[in-house]
Amino acid sequence: MPSLSDFENVRITGVKVNYYFVCKRKLWLFSHGLAFESSSEKVALGKLLHEVVYPSARKREVLIDNLIRIDVVSRRAVRETKLSSKMEEADRWQVYYYLFYLEQLGIKREGEIAYPKEKRVERVRLTDEIREKLIEVLEDIERVVSLPKPPEAEKRSYCRACAYYDFCFSED
Ligand code: SF4
Repeated sequence: MPSLSDFENVRITGVKVNYYFVCKRKLWLFSHGLAFESSSEKVALGKLLHEVVYPSARKREVLIDNLIRIDVVSRRAVRETKLSSKMEEADRWQVYYYLFYLEQLGIKREGEIAYPKEKRVERVRLTDEIREKLIEVLEDIERVVSLPKPPEAEKRSYCRACAYYDFCFSED
């Protein structure tokens, strides 16, 4: 019998899949309760942007199976709206995870990632290769999260925009 904490774990897996591709240290910190991102201005801005892009969408945010939140689910597609495509690979894998999760529930959909500032929509679909890789990714997420301490910080071009920047690189 799954517990409430199991449900919570599944609900945030989409974010973890995204962070896995951004930075494994970020994944570890987020998974261990340092969730600065949830209250950031970026999240609020993303929600606002989404309402502008899909003003007529019947369901703007959907909680599926009481576990995961997805911006919009239509008869055809699951859509995510992102502020920029800087983390495009991470965005893609996050949507692959939603598609894969829905598939386990018998719901087949395509994925769309909207980058309104760039006037562009990226379409994604599951393939057998992606399903196999996703299972490996989910297993590796478990491995990273269960490490006794976070992976070392490695400075990347996008670190300054990360909510954990001061935590990783402050000299104090
Ligand atoms: S600041 Fe850089 S190293 Fe630190 S968590 Fe963010 S992306 Fe990872």
